[in-house]
Amino acid sequence: MAVERESFYQCEVKRRRVRASGGYEPFWKVKTIAEALEDNDTEFRCMNCGGAVKVFKRSPEGGQETHIGHKFKSDSEYCSAGMYFLKATDGRVARQSSSPVH
Ligand SMILES: [Zn+2]
Repeated sequence: MAVERESFYQCEVKRRRVRASGGYEPFWKVKTIAEALEDNDTEFRCMNCGGAVKVFKRSPEGGQETHIGHKFKSDSEYCSAGMYFLKATDGRVARQSSSPVH
């Protein structure tokens, strides 16, 4: 049986914008991972819990599209979109990652 894996196609990527008072400020923008890679973005995080994510690129032979999943199981266990969270039957409440990406 295939191992169940998390797969999200949307994430937040870190961008910079001009601040009204001058200089730049970082902000997070929601994009699909495929789009982010095309734009050469390098900093990603989960749009639901702010946790670190891993990128799984589509292999040249085909298969699943490029996607992301939580880097840490502990995030997946309490993220509202996490595979382990969705499977949990103990009525737990989703929360932000304990080590969010800033
Ligand atoms: Zn998450």
